[in-house]
Amino acid sequence: MYCAVDLDTVAGNELDAIHAGLVRARDRGEAIHLYAHSPGRTVPLDKFEAVLADANDLGLPFVTYADLAAGVQPGAAVVLSFDDQDVDAWTALRPTFAAHQVRATFFVSRFYAFTAAGKAELHQLEADGHAIEAHTVFHLNAPDYVADRGLAAWLADEALPSIAVLTDDGFAPPVAFAYPFGARTSETDRAMLAHVPVLRSVAFAISAPVADACPE
Ligand SMILES: [Zn+2]
Repeated sequence: MYCAVDLDTVAGNELDAIHAGLVRARDRGEAIHLYAHSPGRTVPLDKFEAVLADANDLGLPFVTYADLAAGVQPGAAVVLSFDDQDVDAWTALRPTFAAHQVRATFFVSRFYAFTAAGKAELHQLEADGHAIEAHTVFHLNAPDYVADRGLAAWLADEALPSIAVLTDDGFAPPVAFAYPFGARTSETDRAMLAHVPVLRSVAFAISAPVADACPE
């Protein structure tokens, strides 16, 4: 279980704070986990590119959650991910990713709504060396869903189909899962870890308050 820091403007993590986190990762030999949704919309492109350049300047490589699932021990590194479905925005960043040697992870929700062109873009990102991973079917709050309908229903309706749909479309079988809103419980963690080795939550709530956002 990893918790990522939100780069999006709404989260209020400014460049100086992110820089301090990058420096700390370098100095401690740790990976720092960062995420965003739609650069250019949820976070200004200049801020986003400044973070990438800062990571480059500090000598921090970018690794994916698939790398972590494979047992890579990256030491000082950046684990960068993007959530949801704005594949056009992600694709527009391909030159930026190339310029900064970025390998990222894309946690995809609502894959059923992707157009053929959008799916092709996502496959292109995978071919570029990025990881495509699961982020539920309908982007619902997991603890709420479990409270209403039970764990088995959440797994069957929300979580596991979001893994299967990517595999069925020809992507590398997902090895990581990110919770919508970072909302999770120990019960959902245990259930999901039977299916994927890596889970991602968030260090800061984006919308609703996140209780128990990250385990101790
Ligand atoms: Zn999301």
